[in-house]
Amino acid sequence: MSDLEVPLRPKRKKIWVDYFVQFRWIIVIFLVLPISFTLYFLTYLGDVRSESKSFKQRQREHDENVEKVVKRLKERNPKKDGLVCTARKPWISVGMRNVDYKRARHFEVDLSAFRNVLDIDKERMIARVEPLVNMGQISRVTVPMNLSLAVVAELDDLTVGGLINGYGIEGSSHLYGLFSDTVVSYEIVLADGRLVRATKDNQYSDLFYAIPWSQGTLGLLVAAEVKLIPVKEYMKVTYKPIVGNLKELAQGYIDSFAPRDGDQDNPEKVPDFVETMIYSPTEGVCMTGRYASKEEAKKKGNKINSVGWWFKPWFYQHAQTALKKGEFVEYIPTRDYYHRHTRSLYWEGELILPFADQWWFRFLLGWLMPPKVSLLKATQGEAIRNYYHEMHVIQDMLVPLYKVGDALEFVHREMELYPVWLCPHRLFKLPVKPMISPEPGFELQRRQGDTHYAQMYTDILLCYAPGPVLRGEQFDGAEAVHRMENWLIENHGYEPQYTVSELSEKNFWRMFDGGLYEQCRRKYGAVGTFMSVYYKSKKGRKTEKEVQEAEQAILESPDAEVA
Ligand SMILES: Cc1cc2nc3c(=O)[nH]c(=O)nc-3n(C[C@H](O)[C@H](O)[C@H](O)COP(=O)(O)OP(=O)(O)OC[C@H]3O[C@@H](n4cnc5c(N)ncnc54)[C@H](O)[C@@H]3O)c2cc1C
Repeated sequence: MSDLEVPLRPKRKKIWVDYFVQFRWIIVIFLVLPISFTLYFLTYLGDVRSESKSFKQRQREHDENVEKVVKRLKERNPKKDGLVCTARKPWISVGMRNVDYKRARHFEVDLSAFRNVLDIDKERMIARVEPLVNMGQISRVTVPMNLSLAVVAELDDLTVGGLINGYGIEGSSHLYGLFSDTVVSYEIVLADGRLVRATKDNQYSDLFYAIPWSQGTLGLLVAAEVKLIPVKEYMKVTYKPIVGNLKELAQGYIDSFAPRDGDQDNPEKVPDFVETMIYSPTEGVCMTGRYASKEEAKKKGNKINSVGWWFKPWFYQHAQTALKKGEFVEYIPTRDYYHRHTRSLYWEGELILPFADQWWFRFLLGWLMPPKVSLLKATQGEAIRNYYHEMHVIQDMLVPLYKVGDALEFVHREMELYPVWLCPHRLFKLPVKPMISPEPGFELQRRQGDTHYAQMYTDILLCYAPGPVLRGEQFDGAEAVHRMENWLIENHGYEPQYTVSELSEKNFWRMFDGGLYEQCRRKYGAVGTFMSVYYKSKKGRKTEKEVQEAEQAILESPDAEVA
């Protein structure tokens, strides 16, 4: 059997959930889409209201709201009350992780008022924002000023707080790293109600480095200062088809943004934006973008494509046309480009509404898209949720760039899932070891994409139904994810915790470094107040007793190894 041959699998008998999933579009069209649209509109009105207030007023309200949080935390009686959680309903967040921890007894702190942009400082090139500010809101404010966050995560609904405490990436991450790498300071309310500001070089620098990936288990984030960059009105996008086997596709992707001579910091050789879509084991399209002024975009002969209009073809399908017509270039308005996969939820939209990519649907109802992920989650019930865990994949594999070819072959063998999204990101070498770090000694090898200060990684986004499921064959989703996680651990890779994980506690701490995290948990009094990150991310129900026993074990063995 060649390396790429996939195992033969027996056929699977359909059950009622299969039919429910097949006809889910009825609920989506008649219920989810209209409610989503209404919610988007109300959120938009909320944003407009927020923007109509002066920065001074927003700051005043912020101070009052922080005081309320501090007061609420101080009201908690650790002996009687459960662990602290935000009052955000579990289904509202975009992530797919099982948030059953909110079913255990817990002490809610309401952060829902923290949704204002507090300041845009053009001199320091910093946006000071509250944690519930989302990507659609911030890009609407900054792009007209020819400014942008350095990393604008794709979906409008993703929040600053979630992208910091969880994980966030975009096509500019090969320059700036993950979303949390672009943060200059965090304002955190600690377990004892103290408000602290953590930066990389003040007395809370350990906390600063421990916050990313901690899932809010060190303190409550109430504001963050995030780096801004200057941008232009358009993105000049080049679509370049690549063909070959998976290793060759991986090399084509690497060559699209990582100069072979190692000149990775040269803006002449490295584009502003990068992504690649692998459509099959033999075909992909590499896209590279460079900011362009409106004067350049509007020059005679240039093609402008406003992909944000509701009736436009879905972006990944539009990009796929390069496989037939060959390389092409076009100019996309910058904000449309940032949110190019939003309308189709990458390619998940096709599974949820199988005809929504057709021209007639796009023209008639495309303006209602996308359904809110939160509402899809709220209307699915436990049986459907379990079905998705078994028969569907939403995972990101973060792997060193030079291992992308191996990872693609692994994914093909295990899941046969296409399209696959490839997005590079820097993983910086830091003065301390946070939860994720580059491979030890990477700077001595300096492979393609690496610099002395950062190793180049890639996010391999897997979101779709695997080949065997589409063919009606048996597929064990939990086992496939389990093997994928082992592969990641063996290859110095990582898995964001918004996904559904099968990791045991031991393997969780083999994947992530718990040293700094545990040290900060103790130092800043988080143990016994906030649930530990493994328990918060763990799949399945968890009781308060289970969580507290784990907490107690940590408390009683201060020197115990975490792994
Ligand atoms: C369909 C889909 C598409 C996606 N697309 C992208 C994408 O394009 N780019 C990308 O980077 N990611 C993407 N993601 C993943 C996404 O990054 C994660 O879900 C991320 O955690 C942000 O989600 P959220 O804003 O809903 O945060 P949440 O899930 O609400 O929060 C994430 C974690 O942070 C904690 N947290 C949030 N706010 C605070 C706070 N104020 N204080 C303390 N803790 C807090 C929460 O408790 C939680 O543990 C996608 C996920 C899905 C399912």
